[in-house]
Amino acid sequence: QKFVYDFTEGNKELKDLLGGKGANLAEMTNLGLPVPPGFTITTEACQVYLASGHEPAALRDEVSAHLDALETRMGKKLGQADDPLLVSVRSGAKFSMPGMMDTVLNIGLSDESVAGLAAQAGDERFAWDSYRRLIQMFGKTVLGVEGDLFEEALEETKRAKGVTTDIDLDAGDLRRLVEEFKGIVSKETGRDFPQEPREQMDLAIRAVFDSWNTDRAKLYRRQERIPGDLGTAVNVCSMVFGNLGPDSGTGVAFTRDPASGHQGVYGDYLQNAQGEDVVAGIRNTVPLADLERIDKSSYDQLMQIMETLETHYKDLCDIEFTIERGQLWMLQTRVGKRTAGAAFRIATQLVDQGLIDEAEALQRVTGAQLAQLMFPRFDEQAKADLLGRGIAASPGAAVGKAVFDSYTAVKWSRSGEKVILIRRETNPDDLNGMIAAEGILTSRGGKTSHAAVVARGMGKTCVCGAEELEVDTKRRRMTAPGGIVVEEGDIVSIDGSTGKVYLGEVPVVPSPVVEYFEGRMHAGADDADELVQAVHRMMAYADRTRRLRVRANADNAEDASRARRFGAQGIGLCRTEHMFLGERREMVERLILADTDEEREGALQALLPLQKADFVELFEAMDGLPVTVRLLDPPLHEFLPDITELSVRVALAEAREDANENDLRLLQAVHKLHEQNPMLGLRGVRLGLVIPGLFAMQVRAIAEAAAARKNAKGDPRAEIMIPLVGTVQELEIVREEAERVIAEVEAATGTDLRLTLGTMIELPRAALTAGQIAEAAEFFSFGTNDLTQTVWGFSRDDVEASFFTAYLEKGIFGVSPFETIDRDGVGKLVREAAQAGRATRPDLKLGVCGEHGGDPESVHFFHEVGLDYVSCSPFRIPVARLEAGRAAA
Ligand code: PEP
Ligand code: MG
Repeated sequence: QKFVYDFTEGNKELKDLLGGKGANLAEMTNLGLPVPPGFTITTEACQVYLASGHEPAALRDEVSAHLDALETRMGKKLGQADDPLLVSVRSGAKFSMPGMMDTVLNIGLSDESVAGLAAQAGDERFAWDSYRRLIQMFGKTVLGVEGDLFEEALEETKRAKGVTTDIDLDAGDLRRLVEEFKGIVSKETGRDFPQEPREQMDLAIRAVFDSWNTDRAKLYRRQERIPGDLGTAVNVCSMVFGNLGPDSGTGVAFTRDPASGHQGVYGDYLQNAQGEDVVAGIRNTVPLADLERIDKSSYDQLMQIMETLETHYKDLCDIEFTIERGQLWMLQTRVGKRTAGAAFRIATQLVDQGLIDEAEALQRVTGAQLAQLMFPRFDEQAKADLLGRGIAASPGAAVGKAVFDSYTAVKWSRSGEKVILIRRETNPDDLNGMIAAEGILTSRGGKTSHAAVVARGMGKTCVCGAEELEVDTKRRRMTAPGGIVVEEGDIVSIDGSTGKVYLGEVPVVPSPVVEYFEGRMHAGADDADELVQAVHRMMAYADRTRRLRVRANADNAEDASRARRFGAQGIGLCRTEHMFLGERREMVERLILADTDEEREGALQALLPLQKADFVELFEAMDGLPVTVRLLDPPLHEFLPDITELSVRVALAEAREDANENDLRLLQAVHKLHEQNPMLGLRGVRLGLVIPGLFAMQVRAIAEAAAARKNAKGDPRAEIMIPLVGTVQELEIVREEAERVIAEVEAATGTDLRLTLGTMIELPRAALTAGQIAEAAEFFSFGTNDLTQTVWGFSRDDVEASFFTAYLEKGIFGVSPFETIDRDGVGKLVREAAQAGRATRPDLKLGVCGEHGGDPESVHFFHEVGLDYVSCSPFRIPVARLEAGRAAA
């Protein structure tokens, strides 16, 4: 096993082994781009270290060999006194985790070699600045010294001298600062700052390994669903310096605008600085376009390289570069993060440029991004008090109470408040607060600042670099031009698409993407913006590619019509209990309270025409498409008053001696129907079997509605679905009765209704005996809500609010199994039941109508196991269509 790869040995496909950064450094090296020489220690070495607590035995020698080669190539030795080779040691996992893990620059500097560096560079100040940076970074990340101690010492030096930026400190100031920093290290750690270069390097490598498991890295991985055992690679790279004077500098660039997708020159440049200064947003950068004026030849070369990278990667790339005395060096590239809107635009732009095909375009967007584009935005017509304006870093419209630290953000959001986290700039320690907040606002930093990068990754609204807003975190307030003060708890609205910040709550309007799906805005029409065009095209690709059909869960004509506009190909679940609510509840009460057959029959007869009218409307809205109507499912007590309230009412009435007869009967019925575990009690098919006439009435209503539509020249395609079946016998009994009723209606109306009858698979026993159940069912619809509930033994109404947070924090699962299908458990039952069902009945139609039907990850699973369709709520239909396309592409 080989643990170390020279940059010339790797390539971009080796991300698992070399991490994203290492693989791409190798790729650039092999493309002939100017990358400082170096080598990468593999993630496998890190995995060994994390598992055993020791570096693999062979690592030290391998590192020595690669270091020797590097030294030979560079013509100097690491830390050599008269002309030191310096290296950076950087983390780089398979998936990028911005700012989460450690980096140490300038390794190899010591009390001795700092003079050599000064002599070689002809710049005393530069050498001491580099040394103080090493001690600061090394002290903080490798030795665990509180970073603020260094920051404060630096601030104090500037204050004492009466200057504001570190550029104004001279060699003497920095030399004194180095002494002070070394003092801090000795005092805080009980040991001196290590002077031996190889020791510095080895400790830094180990620190990078360790940084994989910091709390913030773990939290980030859970958020982003990155597995915890991948480990990080470590890149050891010869240093180049952006802080060697005005002809040096460092910057970040995108090959396209990560917010809009437009091609052009996007990025930030900072003269006379090292990379960390840009990312941390410490000094203000200039737009990349200004580099043309500052250093035309480097600028031209950079533009050329960016084009090479885009064509090579066939995607938006982001880049970190450094210019050392007029010589351009590439320090990093990767396929860049982008906003949801830009993802759609870039995918279609690349198709137009002939760089990728439709199938590849589908891989470049996600359902989650589409869902984000469907969020409402601020109403441009509304009157709003503009506080100021920053950089539109991550789109969305967020409203909430101003908070100025992450702790408060988390605390307030836990108690149900919506908050906007306002900081001067964020750093990785703010991650918790960023997750808790609706949106993030900073007064410093550009599009590539920590806040911007992380917010974009999380899909969270962010405005950054709003410099006119003065943020005072100590006093928990922000001051806008004109002296308007926003205190903690005041409501602010931030627009991540325009960068505008408002005082108070700004009303929101639907997104243009929703307007488009609603048919109120037409792609191709003059007013259709680029985004809608791109979404329109991507949806067409998805629809052409997907095998899964997409249906809606809808119970009324209005939802059905919307679903149809959104592209639904039928209804996969109409929950008829939703038709029994409101003023009809009394009629259900009558049914439940009926003492005699006549009373019961009377109650059912009263419900019949109402049910029928509902179905007529629904079949009309979905004319020509299948509509799965599920017979009554929930326990009857749900239609009765609450037991406690009713008991109190009756008790009070009795005390006044005017108890009413009906209330007394109701209370009796409530007591009779009361169950300890209603979810496992008298519901679903069980109701149909013990309440005579109930299912027959519903079947009759469906059949009569279908007949009415037929006679009106419509094309109704009803499917009758029996819920909560556990054994084929239940289904057979209901089926016999249903078939009798349908035959009666067909005879009476002179129609051939072709109604099909099927069942939900939502109990483990149903899944386990699916082969038998398929004898009596023409279709299965997996009810993965109840199936998850019963397979895990998790009460679907309780657990998410009670202990799921703890489960998520402990990493027992990365996402609730009620949200994303549990492939290994619940999913296994679905897969096997589908196979067994089809073995019995090859033309068995298979669908899913639990919440998972609209969840991106789950849609891929249902595609894999060969279901015919997924059914989800109307608003999630576009997401399901897109993901079904992606699954098949
Ligand atoms: C299910 O259990 O997955 C389902 C769709 O039915 P309901 O949510 O109505 O119980
Ligand atoms: Mg169910």
